Amino acid sequence: MRELTCIVCPMGCRIKAYEEKGQIRVEDHGCRRGELYARDELTAPKRVVTSVVTVQGCSELLPVKTAAPVPKEAIFRVMEEVRRVVAKKPVRAGDVLVENIAGTGVALIATKHIQ
Ligand code: SF4
Repeated sequence: MRELTCIVCPMGCRIKAYEEKGQIRVEDHGCRRGELYARDELTAPKRVVTSVVTVQGCSELLPVKTAAPVPKEAIFRVMEEVRRVVAKKPVRAGDVLVENIAGTGVALIATKHIQ
């Protein structure tokens, strides 16, 4: 039995998840999204990666994030690639900086405007 704190919304439900007869059972989740989160945590945990990148000709750092959660085991590779990204002005929140970061199939996007 694993007890998890759901990180999908600010409610932070305490969820119980366990395997029984080859099936994953989830209890005490507040909604379907929490159930899916718990199932993913047991089988293939994922996280949204947030960081900052440099901007060409600008001293301000640009906050970025993955557009969707990436597998936990890919986070190190994602961060290595993020370190090499240099954005070009102007950048708008939501602009895709890398289409397929570290081969995860997930984009790296800007989360702030820099003119
Ligand atoms: S289970 Fe649902 S209501 Fe509870 S924290 Fe997760 S997303 Fe929010």
